[in-house]
Amino acid sequence: MAEFEAAGISARHLDANSPANLRDETLQDWRDGQFTMLSNMGLFIEGLDVPAAACCILARPTKSLTIYLQAVGRVMRPHETKTDCVILDCAGLTYEHGFVDDVREWTLDGKIKKPKEEAPAVHICESCFAAYSKAEHPNECPECGFITYVEPKVIESADVEMVELTPSIIADLRAKRIKWLEFTSAKPWMILSSWENCAATKPVGRTSSGTIEKRG
Ligand SMILES: [Zn+2]
Repeated sequence: MAEFEAAGISARHLDANSPANLRDETLQDWRDGQFTMLSNMGLFIEGLDVPAAACCILARPTKSLTIYLQAVGRVMRPHETKTDCVILDCAGLTYEHGFVDDVREWTLDGKIKKPKEEAPAVHICESCFAAYSKAEHPNECPECGFITYVEPKVIESADVEMVELTPSIIADLRAKRIKWLEFTSAKPWMILSSWENCAATKPVGRTSSGTIEKRG
């Protein structure tokens, strides 16, 4: 409160200890534009109808998706004085519950069907600190246009012969006790420099014809 006032933003606070007449008076002053920021503890998560409110600062954590959505709902109501709203998530609720405008499938008992782990990964813009879905915006912040820096991949190359592994080749390699070149287990093929000079760095893998057993 004091820091808002010091920054030139008029503010008042209400909580459970505020008498009813003070609450009514303060809310009316807020609606009338007498001050800018209304701080509250546990009073206005739901039911507060001030559609001109345009910024919600989430300053407390909650494990409740309902509380999260109801709290931000205070500023998501349309009003002639605004075209959008700002949500300042100081409590990490976007990480906990997903984006406010995520599509959620509700059941009649109030639960959402979508498991939490399927919520899209939250990315914080390095420039404007907006939270957004990296899946929807892989390269650029949708708020400020900041281009996400991607560490360039260093791709090593070598003069090798690509060979599709077949059971007979695998049997031949085993018979000759030739070690495996480095390869990833997801690739259905291997790169061999020559039948005689294969160095083993990762001796477990998979081929198109099946899993290769671990070799020493
Ligand atoms: Zn940004």
